[in-house]
Amino acid sequence: MTARLITGGTVYTADAQESVHARGAVLIVDDKVAAVGPAAEVGQAVDGLDAAVRSRLRTVDASGMMVLPGFVNAHWHEMFAMGFTMRGALRPVSDREDQVAFMGGGGDMHQISATFDRFDDLIEALTPDEAQAIAEYSMWIQLRGGVTTLGDMGSLNRPHSMVAAARRLGIRFSASTWASDAICPPDRSRFVRTRDADTVLAGFESLLGVVAADTTGRIRCRPNVSYVTNMTDELARGMADLVARHDLPFATHVGALRNEVELMRTYYGETGLRRLAELGLVDDRLMAGHGAFLDEHEQKLMLAARAHISHSPGKYGPSGESSLTETGVVPALRRAGLDVSLSTDAAALPGAGIAETMRAAWQMYNEMSADQTEVLPTDALAMATRIAAKGLRWDDAVGSLEPGKQADLLLVRADDWRYLLNPRPLESFLWLAGSADVDTVIVGGRTLVEGGRGVEVDEAALQDRYLQALRGFTTRALRVPAEAVDRVLGQVAR
Ligand SMILES: [Zn+2]
Repeated sequence: MTARLITGGTVYTADAQESVHARGAVLIVDDKVAAVGPAAEVGQAVDGLDAAVRSRLRTVDASGMMVLPGFVNAHWHEMFAMGFTMRGALRPVSDREDQVAFMGGGGDMHQISATFDRFDDLIEALTPDEAQAIAEYSMWIQLRGGVTTLGDMGSLNRPHSMVAAARRLGIRFSASTWASDAICPPDRSRFVRTRDADTVLAGFESLLGVVAADTTGRIRCRPNVSYVTNMTDELARGMADLVARHDLPFATHVGALRNEVELMRTYYGETGLRRLAELGLVDDRLMAGHGAFLDEHEQKLMLAARAHISHSPGKYGPSGESSLTETGVVPALRRAGLDVSLSTDAAALPGAGIAETMRAAWQMYNEMSADQTEVLPTDALAMATRIAAKGLRWDDAVGSLEPGKQADLLLVRADDWRYLLNPRPLESFLWLAGSADVDTVIVGGRTLVEGGRGVEVDEAALQDRYLQALRGFTTRALRVPAEAVDRVLGQVAR
């Protein structure tokens, strides 16, 4: 048995009471939290340790630091294979000619549906080596920003390669598959089936086998449908059967965009959440990505089902989405008692991390309600840890610093000018700090990041392998001329 005492820092537990300990401590024994609380109390727990274990105890002085539970990012996509072409590296340096993007203006639904349906072909075009190199770098960006548990909601990457990448990095990972079997073309008034639902479902069954063989305890899985606009009844029923049979959570994007409502009525005869409900997918297993464009009846369905919304307020402005202020539904549902967690969602380049997303929720939810207590800093933290873990159905093991839970935690320096005189370091963190300020990341008692650097992996090597894989995929599969790619890569500063 190994034991470690992290003592002297401000410990935010994110437990049900949102307990904070000004001079707190966390005792880790092997992979679990053995005690947490005021340093003096945890000291007593140390005294109670077996003498042999106590003789090997390592003490970490965390004075001047914050100790936080590891962030749980339950709505994320691996998209870094599109780093050049999808609002990526090939754009001009000036932003002055930018137009409304396809998620903006309420959403170009036909284009979104078609784009999402093409992901399967792109995934197929990745070699397993490329897929893993891309996934490792993409997941590393999450890990170094404090995410210890990552929930895939459908990625432009190979699921098996992502599991391998997560295992190599040591991050906790809920795997998924890309799932789309229909599109809504502009010249029609009904959806068009693009592939057999059974093939899509078989893809997830194959992933289940990989996850079942995992012995680390860090890999789980969750089926998802890429978007309600890309789902036949057969796929939805198959998913409902799958989650019930294997007792799994389920995720999809729904109520994400203004124009989704009309498109769903036209092409499927019913709005997204109503349809999910009719097909047996609205219950306490459901994590709805975004969930902003829900009418009154749909909001009641969510509340009655005790379903979950994963919200990504750090992302909406930069992508042209209006999932926060346009309807105000998500903060209202949260006020009514629905579980709302925070997530980053994703794009092809690094965007807002969990820290920046917590800031966005703290600032924007409060501004909308003219009430600075609507989302307290500790609420934002809970939404990015304990509540997210509950939505991912991983709260049996992660999401808060409590005895018996996995020792997934972060250390953040909180002793420079940004924190001066503020008795509440988490508040200063939300004001002025961010993903880059995470110093130490521990997953299951194992230190993966220290001083902002990988302990077991070298960031520069991960980046090199990523850029090489990206170059191969972009020139071969996306047919971007090698000169254009190399011009950008030649400018990458190291
Ligand atoms: Zn998403």
